[in-house]
Formats: sequence, C-alpha cells, structure tokens
Amino acid sequence: MFDLAGKIAIVTGGSRGIGRATSIALAQAGALVLVNYRSNEDAARETVRLIEDAGGKAEFVAFDVADPDSVDRSIKEALARHGQIDILVNNAGISIDQLLLRVSAKDLEMTWATNVNGAVYCAKACIRPMMKKRWGRIINLSSVVAESGNAGQAVYSASKAALLGLTRSLAREYASRGITVNAVAPGFIETDMTADLPPAAMQGIVDQTPLGRIGRPEEVAAAVVFLASEEAGYITGQVVRVNGGMHV
Ligand code: NAD
Repeated sequence: MFDLAGKIAIVTGGSRGIGRATSIALAQAGALVLVNYRSNEDAARETVRLIEDAGGKAEFVAFDVADPDSVDRSIKEALARHGQIDILVNNAGISIDQLLLRVSAKDLEMTWATNVNGAVYCAKACIRPMMKKRWGRIINLSSVVAESGNAGQAVYSASKAALLGLTRSLAREYASRGITVNAVAPGFIETDMTADLPPAAMQGIVDQTPLGRIGRPEEVAAAVVFLASEEAGYITGQVVRVNGGMHV
C-alpha cells in the first residue's frame, strides 16, 4: 500500500520481535532494510533471509546502540555503502522489571543506556544525511506504560516516557529540514519480551484490553510503515498508540 522504493531504512534490534516484523514490513513496502543486531547474528541472518525470500532487500549490521563509537562507525559505513539513510526506527530496547526497592544502579544504567541513550546516538548519527537530503523519518518505539505507568516497570516506563520527550523535541528541531519524528507506543505484544509473563499477569492484561487480546508484532510494524511513508508527511511529534484500547 505504501511505497518505500528507493529508501534506505535502519531498524535497531531488528533480529526478532517487533524489530523483525518491522524490518519485513518496511522491505515489503520496497525499502532496503539494514537490520541491526547486537549479538544474535543467527537471528539477524534469519530476518534478512525472510526478507530476501519474499523478494525484498536487506543487510544485517552489527552494533550495540548503547555504544556511541560503534553506532557512529557502523552508520558511517552504511552511509558509505548506500549514500543515504532515510528511515531510522529506534526499536532496540530492554526491560528489567523490578519493584523500585529492588532496582539496582546497574539495572537503571543498562536500561537508560539502551532505551534512551541508544535512540539519541542513532538519531544523531542519521540526522545529518537526512538534513542534507531534506527528507527523513525517525520512529521511536515507546510503550503504553510510558503514559499509563505500570507497577514493577518504573525504570522501563521512565525510559519509554523519555523517548516521548525526545520525539517531540526532535520533531520541532528538524521539521524545517523535512524530517518527521514520531513515536509508536505499543501495548502488550506477543514477543520474547512478554514471553515470560506469568499466565495470571497475561490474563490481567487481556482483561484490561478492550480488544480482548494482546497484539501481534505485525500490527506495530504496520504503524511504523505508515509513519515512514510519504503519506504521513504532515504527521510529526505524535504518538501512535497500538494497544488494543488498553490506554486511550
Ligand atoms: P525483544 O526483546 O523481542 O527485541 C528487542 C531487540 O532489541 C532484541 O533483538 C535485542 O537483541 C535488541 N537489543 C537490545 N539491546 C540492544 C542493544 N544495546 N543494541 C542493539 N540491539 C539491542 O522486544 P520486542 O518486544 O520486540 O520490543 C521491541 C521494542 O518495542 C522495544 O523497544 C520494546 O521496549 C518496545 N515495546 C515492546 C512491547 C511488547 O509488549 N513486546 C510493548 C511496548 C513496547
């Protein structure tokens, strides 16, 4: 439906879950997708294989979003190969769920380094080429809990709320350069991140969700593809909520 032919997209944490579904959906729309991974090369290869088998174009690219030098180097190399990065999806994220009294300084640092600093480093590395081309799309994966809060997820929620501030500020900062910056805030989605939730907790989530189920990664990916499209050119600084009505 949306045509991303000729666009180069990078999806952080693209080897599995929402990142994999997003990589596949962007490639289906015609983009060449750089599938970022940190350590699981086999999973990243599998994402690339799924894309290529469906006739799309993809490469995998290894870097840790929390390491600014590694982000810079890898994005420079990608730019040297492809000349451009048009679409950045800041998807890589971790969730260390703890009650506040059990949160360690290390948990806090790791969550912030990946979820917040990682998005800033990647945006910083991609923004200059987007400015030159006067076209760009940055899409940050936030979460329903950024706005609703959730017991046991104070640090994770705070990091995802930080992404909303980042989204709104970058939207204002780069609108005049033709770059839009938006967030997608998923509810509970069926991925490895939610796989270990106890059945009672999962049932509680389903009970709080008007659509009566948790979401699929493809349903989040569809929102990302829309925001990446030409058709979404007048949308910036917004939060698209893909949460089954859990938080309205
Ligand atoms: P996931 O755990 O399945 O995938 C996250 C990916 O990020 C993994 O491939 C992981 O290796 C990668 N990653 C983590 N740290 C990294 C780093 N430092 N550098 C590079 N890659 C790194 O999770 P998911 O459910 O697919 O979530 C994707 C995004 O959506 C995350 O930002 C998450 O917070 C957000 N989200 C997920 C849900 C959900 O219910 N699954 C809900 C709301 C928001």
